Amino acid sequence: MLTKAPRGTKDITPKESYKWNYVENKFREICSLYGYEEIRTPVFEHTELFKRGVGDTTDIVQKEMYSFTDKGDREITLKPEGTAGAVRAFIENKLYSEPRPSKLFYITPCFRYERPQAGRQRQFHQFGVEALGSDLPSIDAEVIALSVQFFKEIGLKDLSVSINSVGCPKCREEYNKKLREYLDKKSEVLCETCIDRKDKNPMRVIDCKNKTCQENLKDIPFMIDNLCDDCKNHFDMLKEYLNEMRINYVVDKTIVRGLDYYKKTAFEIISSDIGAQSTVCGGGRYDGLVYELGGPKDITGVGFALGVERLLLTLENNNIEIENNNSLDIFVVTIGEKANLKSFSIVKSLRDNYIKCDKDHLNRSVKAQFKYSDKLNSKFTVVIGDDEIENNTVVLKNMNTSEQFTISLSNLVDELKSRI
Ligand code: ATP
Ligand code: MG
Repeated sequence: MLTKAPRGTKDITPKESYKWNYVENKFREICSLYGYEEIRTPVFEHTELFKRGVGDTTDIVQKEMYSFTDKGDREITLKPEGTAGAVRAFIENKLYSEPRPSKLFYITPCFRYERPQAGRQRQFHQFGVEALGSDLPSIDAEVIALSVQFFKEIGLKDLSVSINSVGCPKCREEYNKKLREYLDKKSEVLCETCIDRKDKNPMRVIDCKNKTCQENLKDIPFMIDNLCDDCKNHFDMLKEYLNEMRINYVVDKTIVRGLDYYKKTAFEIISSDIGAQSTVCGGGRYDGLVYELGGPKDITGVGFALGVERLLLTLENNNIEIENNNSLDIFVVTIGEKANLKSFSIVKSLRDNYIKCDKDHLNRSVKAQFKYSDKLNSKFTVVIGDDEIENNTVVLKNMNTSEQFTISLSNLVDELKSRI
């Protein structure tokens, strides 16, 4: 028990953590290109925040939250997603009084009590962005462009961007009426969850994975065909901006997103894996959320979140390798006590000069030191013994080409700098 991580969690060991660093750095870099700055919020929040922010009718709130009462009798939940916390922080820290839009990004662990399987864990990680304070479709287009550029830069070329509009309270009310009338006629074939959804949040019926529901709802009316003028205009402008940036997209009427607060734009990025299709990123506009969480009425938002575990799986399935550049520049092999002592100053000056190096710490034989150096994948090795110290010359060996160079020990740093 003590030696096993809880079900649905995973360790990220050095065999993998370099990949995490790579995608995180890339994400930070792309966010910065677009003027987005990092926000870090607590791993736990008041449960009420997610009930309101994510929505009472969602799977997350109904089934998946890690909630508990703390020692002070507070209802606490480990964050199941990043938006609610970011928006809470935006309101609490009055970021809305700064120039708008507020462009934020986050990198965070998330917690959902789900049945673990490939790409589905109980602790997983998300990258996300939120742009708060602009109503215009131009910011929707920017957020989509940012995500597309991120995926392209890390090597995912076969991407497809699907967009949709889920309307606004005004047109959705009309649409929901129409949808309920349609669903009333189908009540015999709907699954229990959908019967429940029909009253609470009928659009989510479209999201049902149940086969019988899917087969019987083929002629279901879609929101996108029932938009009000304002929503239609917003969607048309978004398409125009994406066209202008030459970002390919398809309109997918079935994207509804699970979260209650989405309005107007909803989008997904799908990567065509070898074999399967997988959604690597989902996002959209959430115009009512800031107000719902106690902020000013007029502030709207748009953002996306992507699952890092699934992103890494997608890279793997597409045979996209991430280079591990943690390997050493040089390993210092020593012969004898005197050389071992001397190696401390050598290694120190190499490290002072940002040359990645290492030495033995287990009193290994020379042969074993070479073997160890090989295991560490070091680019160069140098051997230091009594003679080398006396003559101030060493032999530098390039481990890839097996070339050797005799150089003066005092020039080691400069030589390496010119060769790495
Ligand atoms: P799914 O339909 O797969 O459950 P979702 O609609 O619940 O996804 P979102 O709430 O939109 O997902 O979260 C955004 C992203 O987070 C997903 O696209 C996915 O990559 C990732 N994600 C969601 N749940 C998990 C999980 N349990 N484990 C790993 N990644 C997850
Ligand atoms: Mg889910």
